[in-house]
Amino acid sequence: METAAPSAVIVAIDGPSGTGKSSTSKAVAAKLGLRYLDTGAQYRAITWWMITNGVDTEDPHAIAVAAGKPAIVSGTDPCAPTITVDGLDASGPIRTKEVTSKVSAVSAVPEVRTRITELQRTIAADADGGIVVEGRDIGTTVLPDADLKVFLTASAEARAARRSGELKGKEATDLAATKEALIKRDAADSGRKTSPLAKAGDAVEVDTTELTLDQVIECVVTLVEEKRAGRK
Ligand code: C5P
Repeated sequence: METAAPSAVIVAIDGPSGTGKSSTSKAVAAKLGLRYLDTGAQYRAITWWMITNGVDTEDPHAIAVAAGKPAIVSGTDPCAPTITVDGLDASGPIRTKEVTSKVSAVSAVPEVRTRITELQRTIAADADGGIVVEGRDIGTTVLPDADLKVFLTASAEARAARRSGELKGKEATDLAATKEALIKRDAADSGRKTSPLAKAGDAVEVDTTELTLDQVIECVVTLVEEKRAGRK
């Protein structure tokens, strides 16, 4: 595997849904002048492509056969991340309830993971000044040599409350239903055979239940700065 330039810092941020991974990762990258990659958006994008192209998302064989077809391109500016599929802006459609409910099944297919993992490693290797990559298997599988690995956690109640807040106005959902959907998705992501959601042995675990977003950002920025100082 190729890696980015020696001076570049690679940060892997993993954890289940609703722990504040995206907000934290974007803010940390913006503060430290790093690129940013949302790997969940890539899995959502391939899921959206499967749905719009009539591929049965319950059929792992059909998904495997189609896995190489869509062209998925991620823009890595933390202040304005983008994602396109076959040249189309997919940033809106990948956030629908339908995609959210089907993404775990699609992302469990090994051919999908191989394809997306390759994309992720290429993007990380090309990120000259370094990058923050967020997901579920970044520290364990995609970038096992990352300079810093962070694993964010939070209670199911806190995660559901945050997710419910994000959905307000778009697809209003009650808290209990959000919590149930989130627990179901995490169980599927943690239980799959190929690169499940897991904390790497050398990751720093941060429980965000009682922390504000600013406190989590501050904590991760400090961890990155400590790593950088230690390498000088
Ligand atoms: O982070 P987000 O909630 O957008 O991720 C959507 C889904 O993408 C996850 O539930 C999981 O199924 C999949 N995913 C994954 N591996 C990653 C990132 C996301 O399997 N590294």
